[in-house]
Amino acid sequence: MDLKAHIRDIPDFPKPGILFRDITPLLANPETLQHSIDLFAEQVAAYQPDFIVGIESRGFMFAMPLAYKLGLGFAPVRKPGKLPAAVHSASYALEYGTDTLELHQDAFPPGSRVLVIDDLIATGGTAAATCELVQQAGSTVVGLGFVIELVDLEGRAKLPPVPITTLLQY
Ligand code: AMP
Repeated sequence: MDLKAHIRDIPDFPKPGILFRDITPLLANPETLQHSIDLFAEQVAAYQPDFIVGIESRGFMFAMPLAYKLGLGFAPVRKPGKLPAAVHSASYALEYGTDTLELHQDAFPPGSRVLVIDDLIATGGTAAATCELVQQAGSTVVGLGFVIELVDLEGRAKLPPVPITTLLQY
């Protein structure tokens, strides 16, 4: 199945110079939605995760059905001020300034084997900060999964040396 045919390219969104890879057509089609979750499930099973973390907000759209399919728990990584209980925080550099992500301190038991899921890896800053949060929570990232990898940006170089699944490369 040609998943790439269901990714829509939007030039200059959200700002000039960015080619936005829009996953909503893939989500809207029942076959490609099901196939992308099935592919993820097949490829990450070998990492033997016991918990799944999804990154706000498009990461949730893949992390949740994957957690359901694999029979695992799910926790959200969110922008600051959204999670109600005590949190761990990790900041990462943007082109101008920094951004911060948060995870509930009690999101999963310490010592968990965590799989991190997002829709897309570009420079890797978002995923690297999420790995730091999992570490702060006393657990281990055993793998990461992304629907889309922007290969030229070399985001993988920022991540810990664990297996990474990407369904589509650009
Ligand atoms: P990065 O931290 O640079 O790896 O950026 C990854 C995050 O930004 C992901 O959560 C993506 O949803 C979003 N993102 C970055 N670049 C794009 C793009 N070209 N198209 C769609 N989403 C993007």
